Amino acid sequence: QKPVPSDIVVSRSCVPKPIDRLAKEVGLLSDEVELYGKTKAKVQLNIIKRLQSQPDGKYVVVTGITPTPLGEGKSTTTIGLVQALGAHMKLNVFACVRQPSQGPTFGIKGGAAGGGYSQVIPMEEFNLHLTGDIHAITAANNLVAAAVDARMFHEATQSDKALYNRLVPLSGGQRKFSPIQIHRLKKLGIDKTDPSTLTEEEITRFARLDIDPSSVTWQRVLDTNDRFLRKITIGQAPTEKGYTREAQFDITVASEIMAVLALTSSLEDMRQRLAKMVVATSRSGQPITTEDLGVSGALTVLMKDAIKPNLMQTLEGTPVFVHAGPFANIAHGNSSILADKIALKLVGPDGFVVTEAGFGADIGMEKFFNIKCRYSGLRPHVVVLVATVRALKMHGGGPTVGIAGCVWNLLPLLHDNIEENGCSNMRKQIENAKHFGVPVVVAVNAFKTDTEAELDLVCSMAKDGGAFDAVRCSHWAEGGAGAMALGQAVQKASDAPSNFKFLYELELPIADKIRIIAQKIYGADDIELLPEAQHKVELYTKQGFGNLPICMAKTHLSLSHEADKKGVPTGFVVPIRDIRASVGAGFLYPLVGTMPTIPGLPTRPCFYDIDLDPETEQVNGLF
Ligand code: ADP
Repeated sequence: QKPVPSDIVVSRSCVPKPIDRLAKEVGLLSDEVELYGKTKAKVQLNIIKRLQSQPDGKYVVVTGITPTPLGEGKSTTTIGLVQALGAHMKLNVFACVRQPSQGPTFGIKGGAAGGGYSQVIPMEEFNLHLTGDIHAITAANNLVAAAVDARMFHEATQSDKALYNRLVPLSGGQRKFSPIQIHRLKKLGIDKTDPSTLTEEEITRFARLDIDPSSVTWQRVLDTNDRFLRKITIGQAPTEKGYTREAQFDITVASEIMAVLALTSSLEDMRQRLAKMVVATSRSGQPITTEDLGVSGALTVLMKDAIKPNLMQTLEGTPVFVHAGPFANIAHGNSSILADKIALKLVGPDGFVVTEAGFGADIGMEKFFNIKCRYSGLRPHVVVLVATVRALKMHGGGPTVGIAGCVWNLLPLLHDNIEENGCSNMRKQIENAKHFGVPVVVAVNAFKTDTEAELDLVCSMAKDGGAFDAVRCSHWAEGGAGAMALGQAVQKASDAPSNFKFLYELELPIADKIRIIAQKIYGADDIELLPEAQHKVELYTKQGFGNLPICMAKTHLSLSHEADKKGVPTGFVVPIRDIRASVGAGFLYPLVGTMPTIPGLPTRPCFYDIDLDPETEQVNGLF
């Protein structure tokens, strides 16, 4: 077999078809499409109305076993599978994937366009700014952060009357409330629209949010792996008069606004979610929202284009939606509901939509079912679980790849290890998928260093472990042709009976929901709520947020909370350090152990290889 060139070389070897042509091919009307150059377009949401009576296609979610730090090929398999189903089996298809964060692109992992002959192209467009959605989220998120601190500062340094006069300024000799302020008055139980009629007491209540500075949960974000922003002190300039505060940055893809984008169902719904986001608690224990800050309308304006899914294509010319990009370990890890919904209508009842859930099945897939499917109402027909021999060797006791480079291929067959320990992780992840009642097809993503015996062994262990089917695939080396067996297995599984169910009911107490995930999915003995988490359980229950689904922030490198515990760890208790509430997005977000919410750069980041050729304007070094 010919060696496969680097991802960027393969990507560039293919001339993408003009995106307006692809849009037409998939049934979009020209006024539903907004072109961003020749290879990217945004799709307007009014298409949902036009296609509302069209039956949906089959819905497939791609997940994986617990990966090595390099990733086991979920994106590559998602793309390989749609290339097989679309370009080779001639079915209507759509892939729905996340937009990558700049953090990993310049950090350790590289881009996320797939790899080899199964990629979204042009990969440099995909991996860098795309159409600016992540920048819009950074802008919107940080507008909220600025609003919180400015408001606390103004309240601390002004009298009630002065505050009120500035919040409701004189215009043409009269004061007038803005619509958002009238909304706030209503929330306070003050049914007045004429500012001159407010009593002193009402003026104070209206003007003061009275945020408790120690309760601020809204953080600033940046889409760069800048570890030195994990803890910062803000307000140190003399102009802030000593109102300093410890704060932190998260990575943009962990912003609640990213989660809102991924989980919203319409512009109106996004407006409501952006208004409900809780940023802090008042001194009297009331949740303070973005609506209270008066910023939710502006956020919607900043996000009005980001809400439209981005159309791109695979190397074999099949359509792809790239939309939203929350990380799966510290956020909910799934691309947008809107993209999936539009794609399901566009492919029609005989077509397939393949969507990817980030990291292993214990993280991205669990959140896909319990959070994304709960909000979308969509029910998947098939789970594709990606496994690799290299990761199974690692779970069987081989070294962790990653920084150490390609050492896994120097290992002997490790037959016994794969069988006894390595495959136990795959079996557990199959079991995890089966908790939700959907048939599981295992895709063994073949590397050139794998032996026939290893690939056969993994397939048979997967079937023994309860998979509907297990096939090896070589789409990285061969494109869609290498995933035909997978395509056929998925087609068959999509007709098999499925009995979808959630893992937990929303009405359960917060701690019980967390415990169910920890015990059933991670295999933990129990959970331990540390004091801050216990306090949040009480606070959120009291504030009425107890019925939200749970979005665990946990390492993706182990089923447990400790990244170095491979295989299927047992006998552990999951420590819950803190819990945050993403009320607008619609979940509670427990932090397991010491999970950083902004990654750091390694000693030798990917950016060392990235450069621009000024002659051709080509980007080099991305992978
Ligand atoms: P994931 O989505 O699971 O994180 P990716 O699909 O992004 O993983 O793949 C991670 C990296 O591994 C990419 O650089 C990709 O090109 C490479 N890769 C995937 N499958 C193979 C394969 N079969 N052989 C060699 N490299 C592969």
